[in-house]
Amino acid sequence: MMEIDGSQGEGGGQILRSALALSMCTGQAFKLTRIRAGRAKPGLMRQHLTCVNAAAEISGAQVDGAELNSQSLQFTPGVVRAGSYAFNVASAGSCTLVFQTIWPALMLAAGESRVQLKGGTHNPMAPPFHFLERSYAPLLRRLGAPVQLALQRHGFYPAGGGEFEAVIGGASETLMPFDLNERGGLLEQYADCLAPALPSSIARRELNKLGAMMGWQPEQLRNAGVRQNEGPGNALLGTLVHEHVTEVFTEFGEKGVTAEAVATQLARDMRKYKLSQGALGPHLADQWALPLALAVHLRQQPASYSCTELTPHALSNFEVIQHFLPVSIRTEPLGNAHQVLLTPA
Ligand code: AMP
Repeated sequence: MMEIDGSQGEGGGQILRSALALSMCTGQAFKLTRIRAGRAKPGLMRQHLTCVNAAAEISGAQVDGAELNSQSLQFTPGVVRAGSYAFNVASAGSCTLVFQTIWPALMLAAGESRVQLKGGTHNPMAPPFHFLERSYAPLLRRLGAPVQLALQRHGFYPAGGGEFEAVIGGASETLMPFDLNERGGLLEQYADCLAPALPSSIARRELNKLGAMMGWQPEQLRNAGVRQNEGPGNALLGTLVHEHVTEVFTEFGEKGVTAEAVATQLARDMRKYKLSQGALGPHLADQWALPLALAVHLRQQPASYSCTELTPHALSNFEVIQHFLPVSIRTEPLGNAHQVLLTPA
C-alpha cells in the first residue's frame, strides 16, 4: 500500500484531500501518517472527517482511522458510483473543500451526480463558493468536465449553515488538457461585499476604500444582497475577469480588524496579481494541478499553465499528484512569474 507522510511540505489538509481524490480516481489504496502535523491542532478535524466519509461513501471504500483527531488513515477505495449524495460538515468547516475532494472521482464516474453540501461556504483558508463558481468551475468546463453549482444559503464562521448543490456530469470521455499561460485581455473587474447581520456602514466603508485604492467606479462596487439570517459574516470579494481566466480574491472581516484594513489587503492582493504575468493566482495555481494532471494522464498529452506564485500548498500538491499519477510536474521561471509543465511520465 502506498504510504504518504502527511507532514511533508505544507503539511495541511490538502495532502489528505488530494490523496483521497486521486486514490478514488486511480483505485490505489493509501496509508497517510502524521496527518496535518504542520498545523496547530493536528489530525482529522470535523471538516476533514467529512471529506473522508464522503469519499468512502461515493467509492464504497474500506477505511481505518476515520475518527476525530486521528493522525493516521488507511483508505482502500472500491468502485465510484455516480448518484445523489448529501454531505454535511455539521460545523462551520468548509463544505467547498468537501466538494473538491469528491468532484474528481464523480467527474470520471459514468453518469450524472447531484451532491448537496452543507457547512461553511465562505471560510478563511478555503475556497469561497464564489471562487468555485467564477474561477474554478469555468476552467473545469473548459477541460471538458460539465459542472453546475447553485448556492442556496451562505455559511460563515462560526455559525456555518451554508448550503449549495453541485451537479457533476461524467467526463471520462470528454476530458482534454489545454495550456493556460496567458490570462488574455481584462474584460471586467468588480467587488462584492457580503456582510449579513452586520451594520450597513461596514459594507459601505469596505467598498469605498477598495474603490479608492483600485480607482473603480460606483457601479463596480456591489453591496451583495445576502439575507440577514445568513450571518453574521463578512467577506469582501474582488473579481477580475480576463479572456481566458477569472480570478476571485477574497478577504474576510473579523473582530478587531477595521473595514479599511480588509479593503486594503484585498487591494494589495489584486494589485500583486495585476503586476504579474502569471495567468493563475496563488490559489488556482495549487487547485488547477490535480484536474489538469488527470486530463494529461487520461489523454497522454502534455499541458502547462503559468502562475503568479508557487506556494507551499502548490508544491505539496504536486508531490501528492506525482505519487498517484505517472505524470511529471516541472516548474520554470517565466518572466516575473512561473510556468508549471505537466507531461505523461
Ligand atoms: P489546507 O490549508 O491544506 O486545508 O488547504 C486549503 C485550500 O484552500 C488550498 O487549496 C488553498 O488554495 C485554498 N484556499 C485558501 N484560501 C483561498 C481563497 N481565498 N480563495 C481560493 N482558495 C483558497
